[in-house]
Amino acid sequence: MGEKLVYINGEFYPATEAKISVFDRGFLFGDGVFEGIRVYDGKIFKLDEHLKRLYRSAHAVLIRISLTFDELRKAVIETVRKNNLKDAYIRLIVSRGIGDLGLDITKCKTPTIVIIADDISLFPKEIYEKGIEAITSSIRASYGDILPPQVKNLNYLSHILAKWEAINAGAHEAIMLTREGYVAEGTGESIFIIRDKCLITPPSWVRALEGITREAILEISWKIEEIEDIIEDIFTRYDLYVADECFLCGTAAEVIPVVKIDGRVIGDGKPGSITREIMKRFRERVVQEGVDVYK
Ligand code: PMP
Repeated sequence: MGEKLVYINGEFYPATEAKISVFDRGFLFGDGVFEGIRVYDGKIFKLDEHLKRLYRSAHAVLIRISLTFDELRKAVIETVRKNNLKDAYIRLIVSRGIGDLGLDITKCKTPTIVIIADDISLFPKEIYEKGIEAITSSIRASYGDILPPQVKNLNYLSHILAKWEAINAGAHEAIMLTREGYVAEGTGESIFIIRDKCLITPPSWVRALEGITREAILEISWKIEEIEDIIEDIFTRYDLYVADECFLCGTAAEVIPVVKIDGRVIGDGKPGSITREIMKRFRERVVQEGVDVYK
């Protein structure tokens, strides 16, 4: 197949010609919001949940998306269809659009809407069987008094630097903590631990994104008999170290076991039985549900 087609403000362009202005606020200031969405077997997983989060993010930072929910939904479906993709990753970006070099948002009239449908692979396939090594980052999770972490905004610099810390330390991923030392999330994933058959994840108010994969995992986990309890509660680095199992999850990463954190082996150093069951059920689920692109 030839070049991928990218949607920009209602038109499709071949990837190499898909360009936006240098005066776009997304480029100048990271002034925008986005979503990462997956397509499994021709079905877009949790499309409406992602769109709802996008509109919430945009509303919170005063970006008025110029398309209705339904129009944007159709544009996403059309982008996947035009590219004839069955398994893909969609990056949907809404920036504040073109303005001048100042900060005044009233000068930006029309947001820029970009939809890219492509592949993404955060970790090599084999590592999903073995599990990854993580570190806790020195960079703190973003604070509501600066920018609400629930707003999926284009400022990922702190997450990018945290990820670099992990790579620089010879690990795969970084876990971000709050100022108080509570575990928040991975650089692009929600986090879960399992202790004494109890599944624990931080509540999003702790400084984490309201992860859509996290929600799906919670739904799945209620049906797994081996899990005796599910709680959303704050926990610390210590709880990570002494957990029986740990995994990260997100749209791009999917479900990935963590077997070492800051040099401490988690459980027996292999993906645990509950994590493996969750991974299995998650894989079964994603191909079943979702918005059918080719119907
Ligand atoms: N936290 C952060 C910081 C993220 O960027 C992501 C990826 N969107 C997640 C968590 C996981 O969210 P989701 O499951 O909705 O992809």
